[in-house]
Amino acid sequence: MSMNYDAAIVGGGLVGSAVAYGLAQQGLRCAILDEGDTALRASRGNFGLVWVQGKGSGAPVYADWTMDSSNAWPGFAAELSDRTGVDLSFSRRGGIDLCLSEEEFADRDEKLGALASHQNGRFRYEMLRRDDLLKYMPDVGPDVVGGSYSEHDGHVSPLYTMRAMQAAFLALGGEINSNARVTRIDPSNDGFSIHTATGIVNSGKLVLAAGLGNANLAKEVGLDQPVYPLKGQILVTERVSPFLDMPTVHVRQTGEGSVMLGDSHEDVGLDIRSTPNIMQDIADRARRYFPLLADVRVVRTWGALRVMTPDGLPVYDQSDRYPGAFAASCHSGVTLAAAHAHIFAKYVANGRLGPELKGLSAERFDV
Ligand SMILES: Cc1cc2nc3c(=O)[nH]c(=O)nc-3n(C[C@H](O)[C@H](O)[C@H](O)COP(=O)(O)OP(=O)(O)OC[C@H]3O[C@@H](n4cnc5c(N)ncnc54)[C@H](O)[C@@H]3O)c2cc1C
Repeated sequence: MSMNYDAAIVGGGLVGSAVAYGLAQQGLRCAILDEGDTALRASRGNFGLVWVQGKGSGAPVYADWTMDSSNAWPGFAAELSDRTGVDLSFSRRGGIDLCLSEEEFADRDEKLGALASHQNGRFRYEMLRRDDLLKYMPDVGPDVVGGSYSEHDGHVSPLYTMRAMQAAFLALGGEINSNARVTRIDPSNDGFSIHTATGIVNSGKLVLAAGLGNANLAKEVGLDQPVYPLKGQILVTERVSPFLDMPTVHVRQTGEGSVMLGDSHEDVGLDIRSTPNIMQDIADRARRYFPLLADVRVVRTWGALRVMTPDGLPVYDQSDRYPGAFAASCHSGVTLAAAHAHIFAKYVANGRLGPELKGLSAERFDV
């Protein structure tokens, strides 16, 4: 089998699906090449926050990029729903990161203050003492001293987001091969020959969006994508009556009523098992935030691997040696989906990344 496309996107997770959809909107004939069900997929195990507060504190380039995506999200969600009929359960009524101690409250204020100071009024937040917090979240427990509120934050169903992006991509004539593990890439004068488990695919442009797979694939086209796995575990409860109007970093109520609990971080390699000690920690902390959760049953748990970079910022690159080859890796693929579809994809279509992404190249790791 040999097929020709304007662009091939390796990886059909949140990043690859967003870029592929954006490229198809630009009129390119595209194929997504994905490894299939055995792969490690952050996109199927994440928490669903479209989150701004704290992102890029000390790194204006990342703060700007996150804010651009967050601002594009309402239009992006509406556009995907119009095209596909899928309701993404997106809302952006703000978000709160709760604090369980005065020390945490002071640290948060300092961190968000630093972010606000270099964002020149573009990033807004408010530190809420307990009494003010209760106006937003009447059900917080007595251990909660306050929290940081930002109007920019929101949440969405990550699975419906994936489904909608892929459906919109297919409707625009895109193709998805979900049994196509890429093993080798041969750059040529007019593009790339991509060797997959089911044959060779030829494309003019190439986007590497293979999550943790990017570390190896990038080398095939002279790029560097230094990503490593950082595990997170999530607990999901049975459905309960609405009690949380907006998401927090550790607890969010989905559109269907179930409650997601999470935000653990473990550097344990390619291990996605749920473990009792971490699940216990997540549940204990969630109960301190919202005591009503003590009586609610957990119905599902899982572990998943973040696509992490050495400094936690995304990595975007294009190959000088092989023009037309691009790569993208990030640990906030939900938040950044709108920017990937609306902005990054245009850069790929035009053949050059925008200057605002220069600071997010892997060159920053060269010493
Ligand atoms: C527990 C947890 C919570 C998170 N919470 C949030 C959150 O609240 N908000 C947020 O914005 N982000 C969150 N994230 C991060 C987000 O999920 C990731 O940034 C995003 O999923 C990365 O998407 P990706 O497409 O790069 O990678 P993946 O989802 O891993 O997809 C990569 C794809 O590439 C394919 N692939 C790999 N190698 C090859 C190959 N050789 N050939 C072909 N295909 C290949 C795989 O099959 C896979 O489908 C969270 C992540 C985790 C783990």
